[in-house]
Amino acid sequence: MKEMKIAKNELVSFLDSLISEYKVFAPVKRDGFVVFQEIYSGSEALLVYANSKKPPKEILFPQSEVLFTYRLGGEGLGIEEPTFKDKQMVIFGIRPCDAKSLVILDDIFNSQVYKDVYYIAKREKTLVIAIGCNRPSSTCFCTSLGGGPFSPDGSDLLLVDIDHEYVVQAVTEKGKQFLKKHSEFKKVEEHSLSLMRSVIETAGVLIKSKVETGEIKKKLDVMFDDPFWDWLHEKCLDCAVCTYLCPTCHCFDITDEALDQRGERVRIWDSCAFPMFTLEASGVNPRPTSKERTRQRIMHKFKYFVDNHDMAACVGCGRCIKECPVNLDIRTVLNSILNR
Ligand code: SF4
Ligand code: SF4
Repeated sequence: MKEMKIAKNELVSFLDSLISEYKVFAPVKRDGFVVFQEIYSGSEALLVYANSKKPPKEILFPQSEVLFTYRLGGEGLGIEEPTFKDKQMVIFGIRPCDAKSLVILDDIFNSQVYKDVYYIAKREKTLVIAIGCNRPSSTCFCTSLGGGPFSPDGSDLLLVDIDHEYVVQAVTEKGKQFLKKHSEFKKVEEHSLSLMRSVIETAGVLIKSKVETGEIKKKLDVMFDDPFWDWLHEKCLDCAVCTYLCPTCHCFDITDEALDQRGERVRIWDSCAFPMFTLEASGVNPRPTSKERTRQRIMHKFKYFVDNHDMAACVGCGRCIKECPVNLDIRTVLNSILNR
Protein backbone atom coordinates (compact mmCIF):
# COMPACT_ATOMS: atom_id res chain seq x y z
CA MET A 1 0.00 0.00 0.00
CA LYS A 2 1.47 3.37 -0.99
CA GLU A 3 1.18 6.30 1.44
CA MET A 4 1.23 10.06 0.88
CA LYS A 5 -0.03 12.94 3.03
CA ILE A 6 -2.17 16.04 2.72
CA ALA A 7 -2.18 18.99 5.14
CA LYS A 8 -5.53 19.64 6.81
CA ASN A 9 -5.46 23.32 5.86
CA GLU A 10 -5.27 22.32 2.18
CA LEU A 11 -8.30 20.08 2.26
CA VAL A 12 -10.95 22.69 1.48
CA SER A 13 -9.09 24.02 -1.55
CA PHE A 14 -8.41 20.42 -2.64
CA LEU A 15 -12.17 19.67 -2.50
CA ASP A 16 -12.86 22.93 -4.38
CA SER A 17 -10.53 21.79 -7.15
CA LEU A 18 -12.25 18.38 -7.27
CA ILE A 19 -15.68 19.99 -7.59
CA SER A 20 -14.69 21.56 -10.92
CA GLU A 21 -13.96 18.10 -12.33
CA TYR A 22 -16.15 15.67 -10.39
CA LYS A 23 -19.57 15.45 -8.79
CA VAL A 24 -18.39 15.40 -5.15
CA PHE A 25 -20.47 13.90 -2.33
CA ALA A 26 -19.44 14.51 1.28
CA PRO A 27 -20.95 14.46 4.78
CA VAL A 28 -22.85 17.68 5.53
CA LYS A 29 -25.16 18.79 8.31
CA ARG A 30 -28.78 19.17 7.17
CA ASP A 31 -31.73 19.75 9.54
CA GLY A 32 -29.56 18.70 12.48
CA PHE A 33 -28.50 15.39 10.89
CA VAL A 34 -25.30 14.33 9.14
CA VAL A 35 -26.08 13.08 5.62
CA PHE A 36 -24.13 12.61 2.39
CA GLN A 37 -24.98 15.15 -0.29
CA GLU A 38 -23.42 16.67 -3.34
CA ILE A 39 -21.31 19.66 -2.28
CA TYR A 40 -20.63 22.77 -4.33
CA SER A 41 -17.89 24.21 -2.10
CA GLY A 42 -15.16 22.39 -0.15
CA SER A 43 -16.12 24.28 3.02
CA GLU A 44 -19.50 22.48 3.11
CA ALA A 45 -17.85 19.14 3.92
CA LEU A 46 -17.98 18.06 7.55
CA LEU A 47 -14.66 16.63 8.68
CA VAL A 48 -15.40 15.89 12.33
CA TYR A 49 -18.36 13.57 12.73
CA ALA A 50 -19.07 10.03 14.00
CA ASN A 51 -21.07 8.73 11.06
CA SER A 52 -23.95 9.90 8.89
CA LYS A 53 -27.53 9.23 9.96
CA LYS A 54 -28.42 7.86 6.52
CA PRO A 55 -25.86 5.63 4.85
CA PRO A 56 -24.19 6.89 1.67
CA LYS A 57 -25.63 3.89 -0.26
CA GLU A 58 -28.24 6.24 -1.68
CA ILE A 59 -25.61 7.91 -3.89
CA LEU A 60 -25.42 4.67 -5.90
CA PHE A 61 -28.82 3.19 -5.05
CA PRO A 62 -31.16 6.18 -4.55
CA GLN A 63 -34.22 5.92 -2.31
CA SER A 64 -36.29 6.76 -5.38
CA GLU A 65 -34.93 6.41 -8.92
CA VAL A 66 -36.61 6.83 -12.30
CA LEU A 67 -35.71 3.79 -14.44
CA PHE A 68 -37.30 5.17 -17.61
CA THR A 69 -40.12 7.40 -18.78
CA TYR A 70 -42.82 6.42 -21.28
CA ARG A 71 -45.48 8.03 -23.43
CA LEU A 72 -48.39 6.60 -25.34
CA GLY A 73 -49.04 8.55 -28.52
CA GLY A 74 -50.47 8.17 -31.99
CA GLU A 75 -47.32 6.29 -33.00
CA GLY A 76 -47.58 3.81 -30.16
CA LEU A 77 -45.42 3.48 -27.08
CA GLY A 78 -42.31 5.68 -26.75
CA ILE A 79 -39.74 4.87 -24.09
CA GLU A 80 -36.97 7.19 -22.96
CA GLU A 81 -34.15 5.54 -21.05
CA PRO A 82 -31.51 7.33 -18.94
CA THR A 83 -28.32 8.28 -20.79
CA PHE A 84 -25.91 7.83 -17.84
CA LYS A 85 -24.00 10.93 -18.94
CA ASP A 86 -23.24 12.12 -15.41
CA LYS A 87 -19.76 13.40 -14.53
CA GLN A 88 -17.23 11.19 -12.72
CA MET A 89 -18.06 11.08 -9.01
CA VAL A 90 -16.11 11.20 -5.75
CA ILE A 91 -17.55 10.03 -2.44
CA PHE A 92 -15.42 11.84 0.11
CA GLY A 93 -15.36 11.18 3.86
CA ILE A 94 -17.19 7.86 3.89
CA ARG A 95 -16.46 5.72 6.98
CA PRO A 96 -14.72 2.34 6.50
CA CYS A 97 -17.86 0.35 7.49
CA ASP A 98 -19.88 2.11 4.79
CA ALA A 99 -17.08 1.69 2.24
CA LYS A 100 -17.16 -2.04 3.04
CA SER A 101 -20.93 -2.03 2.46
CA LEU A 102 -20.17 -1.05 -1.16
CA VAL A 103 -18.34 -4.38 -1.57
CA ILE A 104 -21.59 -6.08 -0.51
CA LEU A 105 -23.75 -3.91 -2.79
CA ASP A 106 -21.34 -4.62 -5.69
CA ASP A 107 -21.90 -8.34 -5.17
CA ILE A 108 -25.66 -7.81 -5.40
CA PHE A 109 -25.99 -5.29 -8.22
CA ASN A 110 -23.01 -6.41 -10.30
CA SER A 111 -22.93 -10.18 -9.89
CA GLN A 112 -22.34 -12.98 -12.42
CA VAL A 113 -26.09 -13.52 -12.71
CA TYR A 114 -27.54 -10.04 -12.29
CA LYS A 115 -26.28 -6.78 -13.75
CA ASP A 116 -28.07 -3.66 -12.58
CA VAL A 117 -27.22 -1.07 -15.23
CA TYR A 118 -28.41 1.83 -13.06
CA TYR A 119 -26.08 0.93 -10.17
CA ILE A 120 -23.15 -0.11 -12.35
CA ALA A 121 -23.20 3.12 -14.40
CA LYS A 122 -22.76 5.17 -11.22
CA ARG A 123 -20.38 2.79 -9.47
CA GLU A 124 -17.92 2.63 -12.37
CA LYS A 125 -17.62 6.41 -12.32
CA THR A 126 -17.05 6.61 -8.58
CA LEU A 127 -13.85 7.10 -6.62
CA VAL A 128 -14.23 6.31 -2.90
CA ILE A 129 -12.18 8.34 -0.40
CA ALA A 130 -12.72 7.08 3.15
CA ILE A 131 -11.70 8.70 6.43
CA GLY A 132 -10.92 6.18 9.18
CA CYS A 133 -12.50 6.44 12.63
CA ASN A 134 -10.14 7.70 15.36
CA ARG A 135 -12.96 7.51 17.92
CA PRO A 136 -15.45 4.74 17.11
CA SER A 137 -18.89 4.92 18.80
CA SER A 138 -20.07 2.53 21.50
CA THR A 139 -22.50 1.03 18.97
CA CYS A 140 -19.79 0.17 16.39
CA PHE A 141 -18.94 -3.52 16.03
CA CYS A 142 -17.24 -3.51 12.62
CA THR A 143 -14.36 -5.70 13.87
CA SER A 144 -16.84 -8.54 14.42
CA LEU A 145 -17.67 -8.48 10.71
CA GLY A 146 -14.12 -8.58 9.34
CA GLY A 147 -13.82 -4.80 9.15
CA GLY A 148 -12.24 -2.22 11.42
CA PRO A 149 -12.03 1.54 12.03
CA PHE A 150 -9.28 1.71 9.37
CA SER A 151 -10.28 -1.20 7.16
CA PRO A 152 -9.47 -0.37 3.51
CA ASP A 153 -12.20 -2.66 2.02
CA GLY A 154 -14.29 -0.83 -0.57
CA SER A 155 -12.16 2.35 -0.58
CA ASP A 156 -9.83 3.61 -3.28
CA LEU A 157 -8.09 5.92 -0.81
CA LEU A 158 -8.11 5.82 2.98
CA LEU A 159 -7.28 8.92 5.04
CA VAL A 160 -5.88 8.62 8.56
CA ASP A 161 -6.27 11.74 10.71
CA ILE A 162 -3.00 12.37 12.59
CA ASP A 163 -4.02 15.80 13.89
CA HIS A 164 -2.48 18.45 11.62
CA GLU A 165 -2.52 16.28 8.48
CA TYR A 166 -3.95 13.15 6.95
CA VAL A 167 -1.83 10.20 5.91
CA VAL A 168 -3.39 8.94 2.68
CA GLN A 169 -3.22 5.24 1.80
CA ALA A 170 -3.75 4.28 -1.84
CA VAL A 171 -5.80 1.09 -1.67
CA THR A 172 -6.53 0.45 -5.35
CA GLU A 173 -4.82 1.19 -8.66
CA LYS A 174 -7.53 3.81 -9.27
CA GLY A 175 -6.53 5.43 -5.96
CA LYS A 176 -2.83 5.36 -6.88
CA GLN A 177 -3.48 7.07 -10.22
CA PHE A 178 -5.61 9.71 -8.46
CA LEU A 179 -2.77 10.49 -6.01
CA LYS A 180 -0.33 10.90 -8.90
CA LYS A 181 -2.65 13.40 -10.58
CA HIS A 182 -3.04 15.75 -7.60
CA SER A 183 -0.08 17.79 -6.39
CA GLU A 184 -1.72 18.48 -2.99
CA PHE A 185 -0.54 15.00 -1.93
CA LYS A 186 3.04 15.10 -0.67
CA LYS A 187 5.67 12.58 0.30
CA VAL A 188 5.13 11.34 3.84
CA GLU A 189 7.88 11.15 6.51
CA GLU A 190 8.50 8.23 8.87
CA HIS A 191 7.35 10.37 11.83
CA SER A 192 3.84 10.72 10.30
CA LEU A 193 3.69 7.02 9.48
CA SER A 194 4.55 6.18 13.07
CA LEU A 195 1.74 8.51 14.29
CA MET A 196 -0.60 6.81 11.83
CA ARG A 197 0.21 3.35 13.23
CA SER A 198 -0.43 4.54 16.76
CA VAL A 199 -3.82 6.13 15.81
CA ILE A 200 -4.89 2.88 14.10
CA GLU A 201 -3.89 0.75 17.07
CA THR A 202 -5.69 2.98 19.59
CA ALA A 203 -8.91 3.02 17.55
CA GLY A 204 -8.97 -0.79 17.33
CA VAL A 205 -8.83 -1.02 21.14
CA LEU A 206 -11.75 1.42 21.46
CA ILE A 207 -14.15 -1.03 19.78
CA LYS A 208 -15.55 -2.83 22.80
CA SER A 209 -18.55 -4.61 21.20
CA LYS A 210 -17.69 -8.10 20.00
CA VAL A 211 -19.95 -10.75 18.47
CA GLU A 212 -18.65 -14.13 17.25
CA THR A 213 -20.45 -13.75 13.93
CA GLY A 214 -18.52 -16.66 12.36
CA GLU A 215 -20.59 -19.10 14.44
CA ILE A 216 -23.98 -17.52 13.75
CA LYS A 217 -24.70 -19.19 10.42
CA LYS A 218 -24.23 -22.72 11.79
CA LYS A 219 -26.79 -21.90 14.49
CA LEU A 220 -29.24 -20.30 12.04
CA ASP A 221 -28.97 -23.28 9.66
CA VAL A 222 -31.19 -25.24 12.06
CA MET A 223 -33.22 -22.45 13.64
CA PHE A 224 -35.99 -21.72 11.14
CA ASP A 225 -38.67 -23.31 13.37
CA ASP A 226 -37.02 -22.42 16.67
CA PRO A 227 -39.33 -20.96 19.38
CA PHE A 228 -36.72 -18.14 19.67
CA TRP A 229 -38.56 -16.26 16.92
CA ASP A 230 -41.86 -16.49 18.85
CA TRP A 231 -40.75 -13.87 21.36
CA LEU A 232 -37.90 -12.00 19.62
CA HIS A 233 -40.28 -9.92 17.53
CA GLU A 234 -42.60 -8.94 20.39
CA LYS A 235 -41.36 -5.40 20.86
CA CYS A 236 -40.63 -4.70 17.17
CA LEU A 237 -42.89 -1.98 15.74
CA ASP A 238 -42.35 -2.95 12.06
CA CYS A 239 -41.24 0.64 11.47
CA ALA A 240 -38.40 -0.45 9.09
CA VAL A 241 -35.97 2.15 10.42
CA CYS A 242 -33.37 -0.62 10.85
CA THR A 243 -33.56 -1.58 7.18
CA TYR A 244 -33.88 1.90 5.67
CA LEU A 245 -30.81 3.10 7.55
CA CYS A 246 -28.78 -0.06 6.95
CA PRO A 247 -25.97 0.47 4.42
CA THR A 248 -26.35 -3.10 3.11
CA CYS A 249 -30.16 -3.47 2.90
CA HIS A 250 -31.14 -3.32 -0.74
CA CYS A 251 -34.77 -4.47 -1.16
CA PHE A 252 -36.82 -2.36 -3.54
CA ASP A 253 -40.21 -2.13 -5.20
CA ILE A 254 -40.99 -0.92 -8.72
CA THR A 255 -44.00 1.21 -9.41
CA ASP A 256 -45.46 3.30 -12.25
CA GLU A 257 -46.23 6.97 -11.67
CA ALA A 258 -48.56 7.76 -14.56
CA LEU A 259 -50.72 10.68 -15.60
CA ASP A 260 -52.83 10.49 -18.77
CA GLN A 261 -50.63 9.08 -21.52
CA ARG A 262 -47.27 9.67 -19.80
CA GLY A 263 -45.54 7.94 -16.98
CA GLU A 264 -42.37 7.07 -15.13
CA ARG A 265 -41.26 3.68 -13.93
CA VAL A 266 -39.73 4.28 -10.52
CA ARG A 267 -37.66 2.09 -8.22
CA ILE A 268 -38.10 2.83 -4.52
CA TRP A 269 -36.57 1.34 -1.38
CA ASP A 270 -38.76 -1.25 0.29
CA SER A 271 -38.30 -3.27 3.47
CA CYS A 272 -38.82 -6.84 4.70
CA ALA A 273 -40.18 -5.26 7.91
CA PHE A 274 -43.37 -4.14 6.13
CA PRO A 275 -46.33 -6.56 5.87
CA MET A 276 -47.05 -5.42 2.30
CA PHE A 277 -43.56 -6.44 1.16
CA THR A 278 -44.57 -10.07 0.69
CA LEU A 279 -48.34 -9.66 0.25
CA GLU A 280 -49.32 -11.59 -2.85
CA ALA A 281 -52.08 -10.62 -5.31
CA SER A 282 -54.12 -13.60 -4.08
CA GLY A 283 -54.24 -12.06 -0.61
CA VAL A 284 -51.85 -14.67 0.81
CA ASN A 285 -48.90 -13.34 2.79
CA PRO A 286 -46.09 -15.83 3.47
CA ARG A 287 -44.73 -13.52 6.18
CA PRO A 288 -47.99 -12.44 7.80
CA THR A 289 -46.74 -11.36 11.24
CA SER A 290 -43.80 -9.58 12.75
CA LYS A 291 -42.39 -12.97 13.80
CA GLU A 292 -41.73 -14.09 10.21
CA ARG A 293 -40.46 -10.65 9.20
CA THR A 294 -38.03 -10.32 12.10
CA ARG A 295 -36.76 -13.84 11.39
CA GLN A 296 -36.31 -12.93 7.73
CA ARG A 297 -34.21 -9.86 8.54
CA ILE A 298 -31.79 -11.85 10.72
CA MET A 299 -31.81 -14.95 8.49
CA HIS A 300 -31.20 -12.91 5.35
CA LYS A 301 -28.23 -11.04 6.78
CA PHE A 302 -26.52 -13.91 8.58
CA LYS A 303 -27.59 -17.12 6.82
CA TYR A 304 -29.09 -16.72 3.31
CA PHE A 305 -26.62 -14.00 2.32
CA VAL A 306 -23.69 -16.06 3.61
CA ASP A 307 -25.03 -19.06 1.64
CA ASN A 308 -25.20 -17.01 -1.56
CA HIS A 309 -22.33 -14.53 -1.24
CA ASP A 310 -19.98 -16.06 1.32
CA MET A 311 -20.21 -13.02 3.60
CA ALA A 312 -22.75 -11.56 6.04
CA ALA A 313 -24.91 -8.64 4.90
CA CYS A 314 -23.87 -6.51 7.87
CA VAL A 315 -20.83 -4.31 8.41
CA GLY A 316 -21.39 -3.53 12.09
CA CYS A 317 -22.06 0.19 11.55
CA GLY A 318 -24.46 0.26 14.50
CA ARG A 319 -27.14 2.46 12.86
CA CYS A 320 -29.90 -0.07 13.52
CA ILE A 321 -28.83 -0.12 17.19
CA LYS A 322 -28.79 3.67 17.56
CA GLU A 323 -32.02 4.35 15.73
CA CYS A 324 -34.37 1.48 16.67
CA PRO A 325 -37.15 3.18 18.68
CA VAL A 326 -37.54 0.16 20.99
CA ASN A 327 -33.83 -0.70 21.42
CA LEU A 328 -33.92 -4.01 19.63
CA ASP A 329 -30.13 -4.35 19.58
CA ILE A 330 -28.83 -6.64 16.82
CA ARG A 331 -25.73 -7.49 18.93
CA THR A 332 -27.99 -8.81 21.70
CA VAL A 333 -30.03 -10.76 19.14
CA LEU A 334 -26.89 -12.35 17.69
CA ASN A 335 -25.46 -13.19 21.12
CA SER A 336 -28.80 -14.78 22.12
CA ILE A 337 -28.63 -16.92 18.96
CA LEU A 338 -25.07 -17.97 19.88
CA ASN A 339 -26.22 -18.99 23.36
CA ARG A 340 -28.97 -21.33 22.11
S1 SF4 B 1 -36.08 -0.37 13.92
FE1 SF4 B 1 -36.60 -1.69 15.66
S2 SF4 B 1 -38.83 -1.48 15.84
FE2 SF4 B 1 -38.30 -0.72 13.79
S3 SF4 B 1 -38.54 -2.53 12.46
FE3 SF4 B 1 -36.37 -2.46 13.09
S4 SF4 B 1 -36.28 -3.80 14.92
FE4 SF4 B 1 -38.45 -3.29 14.57
S1 SF4 C 1 -27.60 -4.65 10.29
FE1 SF4 C 1 -27.36 -2.84 11.59
S2 SF4 C 1 -25.19 -2.87 12.22
FE2 SF4 C 1 -25.39 -4.26 10.46
S3 SF4 C 1 -24.89 -2.98 8.68
FE3 SF4 C 1 -27.12 -2.93 8.93
S4 SF4 C 1 -27.54 -1.09 10.18
FE4 SF4 C 1 -25.33 -1.57 10.35
